[in-house]
Amino acid sequence: MHKDLKKILIDEKSIINRCLELGQQITDDYKHDVEPPIFIALLKGSVPFLAELVKYVNLDIELDFMDVSSYAGGTESTRDIRILKDLDRSIKGKNIIIVEDIVDTGRTLLAVTKILENKGASGIKVVSLLDKPVRREVTVEVDYVGFEIPNEFVVGFGLDYAEKYRNLPYVGVLKDELY
Ligand code: 5GP
Repeated sequence: MHKDLKKILIDEKSIINRCLELGQQITDDYKHDVEPPIFIALLKGSVPFLAELVKYVNLDIELDFMDVSSYAGGTESTRDIRILKDLDRSIKGKNIIIVEDIVDTGRTLLAVTKILENKGASGIKVVSLLDKPVRREVTVEVDYVGFEIPNEFVVGFGLDYAEKYRNLPYVGVLKDELY
């Protein structure tokens, strides 16, 4: 275990096993569709999860990436997001699967979903490695969840603290003195 962590919440083997299950489930759900879905991963946190997950998706999917950040202005309820990197291709009429590292308040996901709807996506589903349902502030549907976790700030497997720890192969909790 990394010296800065106080505990591992989800070990590497459990993450890989869960990615296998999710990949098979997505394959099953989309196998009769004429066009396979486009996976849209939100940078940077979802990259390790995306890479593990798509190994087990047995469909001719395409990948694209978006990078968004919370917009500082506005009040909590009107808070919007800024697009730092937009999609490379049109998604008009396409089925999309948004790939997230974690759904916390749900605000990022809600805003991204609206953007993709405005771009003309025909169907949007969401897969997230982690879900913290007790923190939810807006209603969003997460179709495929890797693991529900309690209200703790986690790092690893893509998730960072000040841009560090994204490369850890497990999800854990930092020691208190590091915050
Ligand atoms: P939301 O908009 O759902 O509140 O937040 C989603 C984003 O907040 C995630 O994509 C992630 O970047 C960040 N986030 C939320 N909870 C955690 C956490 O426990 N650890 C880390 N490293 N990031 C988090």
